[in-house]
Amino acid sequence: MKKTEKIFAVETTSLTKQYKDKAAVKQLNLKVQEGEIYGFIGRNGAGKSTTLKMISGLIAPTEGEIKLFGKPVSDPIIRRRIGVLIESTGFYPNMTAKQNIIMKAKLMGLADYSSIEHVLQLTGLANTGKKQIKHFSMGMKQRLGVALALLGNPDLLILDEPINGLDPEGIRELRQLILQLHEEGKTILLSSHILGELSKISTNYGIIKDGELIEQITKEALEEKCMSYFQIEVHDIHHALVLIQETFPKVQTEVFDKQTIRIYGISEGSELNQLLISHQIPVYSSGFHHIDLEEYFLERMEGKQKNV
Ligand code: ATP
Repeated sequence: MKKTEKIFAVETTSLTKQYKDKAAVKQLNLKVQEGEIYGFIGRNGAGKSTTLKMISGLIAPTEGEIKLFGKPVSDPIIRRRIGVLIESTGFYPNMTAKQNIIMKAKLMGLADYSSIEHVLQLTGLANTGKKQIKHFSMGMKQRLGVALALLGNPDLLILDEPINGLDPEGIRELRQLILQLHEEGKTILLSSHILGELSKISTNYGIIKDGELIEQITKEALEEKCMSYFQIEVHDIHHALVLIQETFPKVQTEVFDKQTIRIYGISEGSELNQLLISHQIPVYSSGFHHIDLEEYFLERMEGKQKNV
């Protein structure tokens, strides 16, 4: 019997976007499973918006394939299953939140307007009454953007930098909204360069650097990678590494730079220090550390890799 292929909410194969001599996105194989909150991380200009625009069908790839729920992105039925917030423009500034939503519902050809009140409630905009969009705060505009994306009750939400420009209160409200939508069963793909915030909600991460997806990792695997480690700075790194690996075959080691080794999976460092000193390997410094997500991300951006 033929093995059934796994169906992803989003699956790109060799996705590439070339702008004249600039490759904005290179050979991206991105996979988002249903029910995930996928945090797409990268510095400014790394290629996040370009990727999300291609996945949303707003711009055409130069090369590669995009499947949403197993179907090509060009499929109009599939397009109805996605809601997109990319750059919160396209509002009618002299209209109210509700009028903007009705306008979009009409443009989408939605027959059932019952979801209008629902999305207003959900995004906390139900009490904005006659207030025109031009008088909205940045946070309210972002929530309106999410409300528009939610019209038609999509299964997949694509949000590009939704927390950009928000104050702490706006960020907290949006975070709660995203978590609530996730609980309702929606798959969420969102980008940000604000790592601390992404780490509060994401179940999975994709790291993009210079147009390349350099890592996809689950929250659990990331937590494991960011566990405590014992770091030593030594004079003779090769000798030290061999000695540690022979003496403690179960621990993981990582050569961090030409003098520094990180050792994972030990709870106590004095035995290791003594081992090195007894073999005449000078130890310049040693101690326990813990990587936070931001540090991990920055290290990945600089191209350092853990080699176990
Ligand atoms: P930011 O958060 O700053 O928008 P990003 O990760 O979303 O960053 P992109 O906007 O996708 O990055 O841009 C990736 C690269 O492609 C950048 O170098 C950008 O200058 C370039 N780029 C994006 N759009 C175009 C375009 N229409 N024409 C030419 N180059 C472009």
